[in-house]
Amino acid sequence: MSYHLRINGRGNAWPVPIAQVHPFYSLPGAPDYANASYSLLRKDESGKVVMDLLVDAGHGIVPFLLRHGNRIPDALLITHPHFDHTLGMDWIIQSYYRFHGNRRYPVYATRGCQEQIIATMPHMADLVAFTDLPYGIPVEVPEAGEGITVTAYPVFHGPHARAAAMLRVAVPQAGQQLLFTGDVLLPLLQQKDLEALQGADWLLTDANNRFPNPKTNHWSVSRHPQDDRYLEPWLQALTQEDLMAPHNFQSYDNYSYLLGFFEDFPDNKDYLLTLLDFVLRVRPRNLLLAHYSGIEDEKYYGEEVLDTAGLQSWGERLFSGPLPHTRLLVPDTGEIYALNH
Ligand SMILES: [Zn+2]
Ligand SMILES: [Zn+2]
Repeated sequence: MSYHLRINGRGNAWPVPIAQVHPFYSLPGAPDYANASYSLLRKDESGKVVMDLLVDAGHGIVPFLLRHGNRIPDALLITHPHFDHTLGMDWIIQSYYRFHGNRRYPVYATRGCQEQIIATMPHMADLVAFTDLPYGIPVEVPEAGEGITVTAYPVFHGPHARAAAMLRVAVPQAGQQLLFTGDVLLPLLQQKDLEALQGADWLLTDANNRFPNPKTNHWSVSRHPQDDRYLEPWLQALTQEDLMAPHNFQSYDNYSYLLGFFEDFPDNKDYLLTLLDFVLRVRPRNLLLAHYSGIEDEKYYGEEVLDTAGLQSWGERLFSGPLPHTRLLVPDTGEIYALNH
């Protein structure tokens, strides 16, 4: 038995409107579009996939799965309820329901995320067996195998991403910790959780912009000499209530976790504004950039929109100095990495 990480799609929601092209994404690569999605795979001795734990399922996930083994994933983890992370779940879940004697499909998500999914796709209420992900508490995923757990941590991804979370998946059989950031403008992790994440084996990130533009509701990879024009007014106006609002369910356990965050970081204005800030805290062994757009970098900073090789070499220049032991990866869709001890 061996564990692997597969890149099912890298694309964010908006860089590739139909009838346009983007240098990062190739046209024949339709599964890549609006589909930031990963699989944790277990293979048997013959190399056959015997378990697929899917993380997010955007527009392109169905053609991807049809072309890559044509196998229904065993369970689904969702970071947040945006369509480039959820729209493909309908086909997966309907397939499972029909071929498994009307059994409900296992989906793991925060309570707020579940509610938004059901609000936008009401039939999911009858087809899905949801498991709650309370913040900061590991939850077992029996469909993925014994001992495999997922832990959700809140993130702020703009006012409309209800209960958006980053997900940490522990795979004790392979001695691996994977952190899927989902889409993030500002992480809301407590100090103790940031410490626990240090040295994560894999950090799979939202690299939507290279430079800050909070209006996108995504963090940037790094700062820019002229970023104060966009960052400062937003920071000045940002309140604790703004950060709480998408997670504001006082009846849920989430609330105490968020209060813990504000206790640890009372001045959240200095907190982890870029992916680089976050990576310097976590210091992962492997850092994977996906979900790239770059449109705002061009529009607001006059900076080029990069292709895959361009983002790889720009990222290497940025990260290799401060993080010499971190391997930077800008993968292609369909790429599979072995998870070793
Ligand atoms: Zn997205
Ligand atoms: Zn999103």
